[in-house]
Amino acid sequence: MRLVLVGPPGSGKGTQGPVLAAHLGVPHLSTGDLLRAQVEAGTDLGHRVGEVIDRGELVPDDLMIAVVAAALGDGTAGGYVLDGFPRTVAQAEMLERGDSPLAAPDLAVHLAIPDAVVHERLARRARDEGRADDADPDIIDRRLQVYRDETAPLIDHYRDRGALVTVDGDAAPDEVSKRLLDAVASRR
Ligand code: AMP
Repeated sequence: MRLVLVGPPGSGKGTQGPVLAAHLGVPHLSTGDLLRAQVEAGTDLGHRVGEVIDRGELVPDDLMIAVVAAALGDGTAGGYVLDGFPRTVAQAEMLERGDSPLAAPDLAVHLAIPDAVVHERLARRARDEGRADDADPDIIDRRLQVYRDETAPLIDHYRDRGALVTVDGDAAPDEVSKRLLDAVASRR
């Protein structure tokens, strides 16, 4: 199964992605983790994206599709769980094109949480993980704005294609995992 996770920052994509991937027996990729590792390692790509991430903006679409294709290779028809990609309707449309290096998803899972919970969770993550883009309230607001403007339209995009399930992510991690596995099982 090819599955993408859509949800605001702090909705639990990074926690739940590996759980779902292990359950489905498919590779998992978090584009945020991948990009942060590139910044950390000081690669060319890392230099190109570091400031964009710190500002809470999005990395350009054409760069992202190349990065994801390089990370996943050719074997994507067999399944994947993607966390953080696609992040824009343009990225989703690239996946759906005949010449896409990646197979398009079967299902998008929308992890829904209220804005107040986003703020609480990101404040905790800033303390625990030291992510610069979680530490500054203005940057958090910018990321939420970018989510609403650029990423949330994916929800309608996948709903229109009959490929959306929404899961309430405002619960303890084990409970959210259970809800997700039930939602995915109902669509297999
Ligand atoms: P995340 O860990 O998913 O919150 O991603 C952290 C940051 O990485 C985002 O705020 C963006 O700057 C960048 N990023 C991750 N995935 C994408 C994507 N698919 N398209 C554009 N930028 C991305």
